[in-house]
Amino acid sequence: MLQTAQMHATRSICVLAGGVGAARFVDGLVQVHDPSDIAVIVNVGDDFEHLSLAISPDLDTLLYMLGGLVHPEQGWGRAEDSTTALQAATQLGGEDWFLLGDKDIGLHLVRTAKLRSGAVLSQVTAEFTRQLGIETSLLPATDDQLRTIVETTAGDFDFQTYFVRRGHRDEVQGVRYEGAEAAAPAPGVISAIEEAELLIVAPSNPFLSIAPILAVPEIHQAVHERRNPTVGVSPLIGGKAVKGPADRLMQKLAGGGTPAAIAERYEGFLTHLLIDDLDSDGLAALEQRGVKAAATDILMRDREAREHVARAALELATAH
Ligand code: GDP
Ligand code: CA
Repeated sequence: MLQTAQMHATRSICVLAGGVGAARFVDGLVQVHDPSDIAVIVNVGDDFEHLSLAISPDLDTLLYMLGGLVHPEQGWGRAEDSTTALQAATQLGGEDWFLLGDKDIGLHLVRTAKLRSGAVLSQVTAEFTRQLGIETSLLPATDDQLRTIVETTAGDFDFQTYFVRRGHRDEVQGVRYEGAEAAAPAPGVISAIEEAELLIVAPSNPFLSIAPILAVPEIHQAVHERRNPTVGVSPLIGGKAVKGPADRLMQKLAGGGTPAAIAERYEGFLTHLLIDDLDSDGLAALEQRGVKAAATDILMRDREAREHVARAALELATAH
């Protein structure tokens, strides 16, 4: 089923994506499925302006991963980068809490210039994928301003202040997505969702990466109106995040980090969920919810493991 659609202009697989977890998964997916047959819709709730640069961390993580430029251990930023520019800026009183590599700044300079001269984010992103030889289509969820605000006991913070500057240590009480209600999907986003034979929710943070995408009303609607399968891959292993605060957010805002709690985040459109062997005691609860599920090793430590997870997600999608 998925193979025949590769001949058509329409992408048969569409992925909803955040940053590092999503990029690892998509890196596996493009090894086992035609990269030009995949569209990735990317969170922009983390985007911000810093030192006058327009920065889109999740889009950049995917660009660097698929362009073969990513820092292998970190999973974000560029390999073999240096920090000369940031050090010089810091010496002059510039803020130093957000790490910007020299090569990374090169990308931000070009994006910032293009946006200032009137291009929109989806155009700039398409241009970058062309320049980097990336065949997979990367679509920002929206070209409009959408900002994730994290509400904590220490106050409300924009995403990067919460996550990077304060090291995601504050106790979260809620998350809101400023601008989402009025945001329009970027060109190609709705057709990618509607026409895909398979929609995949990447193993990304449900509140900080996937929810901001779904907060755009037309995207929410398109996802819920789909009749084809939607497969999720859990971002939690043994109930714990591989990195970041997803497990803490699930505890606080979703009452726990079980597979059923993950499925509940995607209630109304998720048909399948791939979970880790360590969480297999949650399979029965998923079946009870009407979500078809399978358990395997979903830790994506290397290329081989990423391919395994991608293959398992595709196989699960064909389960009835
Ligand atoms: P961010 O924007 O860079 O934080 O990226 P995402 O939201 O896409 O990814 C963060 C999530 O990825 C975290 O919740 C991690 O638990 C999850 N993650 C990272 N590596 C892995 C992995 O190897 N396997 C799985 N299943 N999840 C992972
Ligand atoms: Ca992110």
